Amino acid sequence: MHDAASSSPKPPSSLHTETQVLQTERTPYGEVSPAIFMTSGFAYDSAEQAEATFTGDVERYQYTRYSNPTLKALEERLAAVEGAEMCTCTASGMGAVSSALLAHVKAGERVVASRALFGSCYWIVSTLLPRYGIESIFVDGDNLEQWEQALSQPTAAVLLETPSNPRLDILDIKAISQLAHKAGAIVIMDNAFAPLIQKPLKLGADVVVYSTTKHMDGHGQTIGGAVLASKTWTEETLLPYTRNTGTTLSPFNAWAILKGMETLTLRLKAMTDNAQFITELLLNSPQIERVFYPGHPSHPQYDLAKSQMENGGTMVAFEVKGGKKSAFAFMNALKVILISNNLGDTRSLITHPATTTHMKIGAEERGHLGITDSLLRLSVGTEHREDLKADILNAFLAL
Ligand SMILES: *Cc1c(COP(=O)(O)O)cnc(C)c1O
Repeated sequence: MHDAASSSPKPPSSLHTETQVLQTERTPYGEVSPAIFMTSGFAYDSAEQAEATFTGDVERYQYTRYSNPTLKALEERLAAVEGAEMCTCTASGMGAVSSALLAHVKAGERVVASRALFGSCYWIVSTLLPRYGIESIFVDGDNLEQWEQALSQPTAAVLLETPSNPRLDILDIKAISQLAHKAGAIVIMDNAFAPLIQKPLKLGADVVVYSTTKHMDGHGQTIGGAVLASKTWTEETLLPYTRNTGTTLSPFNAWAILKGMETLTLRLKAMTDNAQFITELLLNSPQIERVFYPGHPSHPQYDLAKSQMENGGTMVAFEVKGGKKSAFAFMNALKVILISNNLGDTRSLITHPATTTHMKIGAEERGHLGITDSLLRLSVGTEHREDLKADILNAFLAL
């Protein structure tokens, strides 16, 4: 039995997400807001109970690296929202990505990934995996012929990200998953840019990874990650890896993320409305060269985006006329929008990918990915839209 945290009935699984994120298992104290269990270990009533816990005859918490009631509360909330059988939280989004890959692949196997990946994900596939004898192949994510070619040989795993960072390219999750499965690969999908509005497991992906640092926490407080997948894969493949290598999320951070998730739907709605408004503003601004927003018909893959995302999300990328000098002048003139490489926060954050998040991949690879010196990535927050508009229009005066 799960001791204290079993006193309240489980919520029905048919609840809508807005309601689901407010369900909390209560301890006998009847607290309304979820309790936090800051403990490394758990004491046993007897030596016999300790033995039975280790043999697996008794289901009980033993050590927080394995599990903890606060972690379980977050994992159950994330699994319910995603529609996944199981969720495993990790100390960071990168902990989630690296665990999903390294738990699954072995020396001599191959991994195929889309080129437009988050910087650290790119490093894992391009640099770390080959070090362990795993072959890694990159393809242009929006080119199905390249996927087909790369997946014409047996493959262990496919890693993709859509919408991609920073230019919000859209990849066809369904078509790529079909090709991957034919090659024997599992599909690991980094859904950091589209929580709630895109359900990769329904489109054919096998594993969804998140940086909960982003929209789930939403208040820019913690670093955390999550891996969502089937019960079988989680128990047989992932947990032996995460539990023994120690990728555990702190219960304190789990609690902060759990609280953040209570307003996730509200924040996403406000941020998405603002992102649509900012997209229109930028499209009508002579200082702007191009705008990339998957929820606007001007996006080159608008139809594909519409088929797999409920809306365009919270991120907008755009090119300022005049290259790096103009991009920097624009950023430096902003007063409400903060310069920060984080995203998914309640506060609007802007970054210049070529000199920050994507600096290390080099000019050639940036060119290939369309990450020009004029490109800015804006994570739109929950501020009043007129304040964001005024901030942007004021910053245009610096150009
Ligand atoms: C932020 C991010 C990560 C890494 O997450 P951390 O919590 O910073 O470790 C991975 N993938 C994507 C797409 C991200 O945006």
